[in-house]
Amino acid sequence: MTKKHVLITGASGFIGSHLTDQFLKSGYAVTGIDNFVTGTKKNLDLAFQNPDFSFVEQDVCRGLNEANFLLIKKYGLHGVLHFACPASPIDFDKIPFEILAVDSVGTAHTVELAMRYDARYLIASTSEIYGDPLVHPQTEDYWGNVNTIGPRSCYDETKRFAEALVSTAIRGYKLKHENGVMKSEAGAGLNGGIVRIFNTYGPRMRPDDGRIVPEMCMQTLQGRQLTVHGDGLQTRSFCYVSDLVQGLLKLYESDIKVPVNLGNPTERTVIEFAQTLNQISGAQSKVRHLPARVDDPRRRCPDISRARKLLGWEPKVSLEEGLTATLEYFKCNP
Ligand code: NAD
Repeated sequence: MTKKHVLITGASGFIGSHLTDQFLKSGYAVTGIDNFVTGTKKNLDLAFQNPDFSFVEQDVCRGLNEANFLLIKKYGLHGVLHFACPASPIDFDKIPFEILAVDSVGTAHTVELAMRYDARYLIASTSEIYGDPLVHPQTEDYWGNVNTIGPRSCYDETKRFAEALVSTAIRGYKLKHENGVMKSEAGAGLNGGIVRIFNTYGPRMRPDDGRIVPEMCMQTLQGRQLTVHGDGLQTRSFCYVSDLVQGLLKLYESDIKVPVNLGNPTERTVIEFAQTLNQISGAQSKVRHLPARVDDPRRRCPDISRARKLLGWEPKVSLEEGLTATLEYFKCNP
């Protein structure tokens, strides 16, 4: 029996591992690629039980040699989903050049591979490309307000570069590396999609990755105060990971080439988030304010009209439900 085979980079990370499980569940064969810079093999425990899963440990920036991907020989290559990229503010401080590399060089290698096979391609972009937005909620037509030289630029600006690279390929330029240098050739356009992911949370996040959900969940479980950067009136919208990966599958299976926001449009302040967490845990932890993070966006909320219209997708899991499951995960995986 022949299967559709996809290659997922960043497969052992938080979103990549859920995406891998979702594709396997939907009948695809999956090759996962990861260099474990922020991911862990444990996230793939379920996937490794599936005979249609194969894993290659490598840095995508080193180029992608098909000979290493055994499932390509068996099933060909239906698609590439490029999800390798550290995504937490702690990583922006610790490994900025690795982030710059994976979103530029890594994106180029994955696009080239997809084009060689006429495969579908999906790049994980982010709400961070809108920067500290001046338009609210953020629609895909908004070009953003990004500090190109700020401490977050290794992430948000490189994601913008990745979008530029993918959209150039979609417009009909073929990308080829010659002696390690990128060259343009005329050719059919890439069947590529761009997903702009808004704050997503759930099991398999790293407990110490500095993002608000794991940080506050761990503080709750350890009986500590909840730290809030700045006044806490900045807003976020939290999407549970099972909702996200269903949207990603739908987007992958479409031929949509315009960017699509995926996220939960219910906006809350960070203080409101802390209150919800206290209600769920019953802990009544106090809030401690820390200095605001540089260039931290004040408001963040997706307009998901496009996803609703083109994909028939919207999130279903309430924050209370998702946070309960996430807290339980951190309790068992401290
Ligand atoms: P993560 O850090 O948990 O996962 C990233 C994975 O990529 C890790 O397993 C890491 O080891 C791997 N990786 C990094 N560089 C690599 C390289 N050069 N070669 C091979 N593997 C490499 O982060 P995440 O939250 O799962 O994010 C996944 C993707 O989704 C990223 O592209 C991120 O920018 C995007 N995204 C995430 C969110 C979110 O809320 N989690 C929001 C917007 C966008």
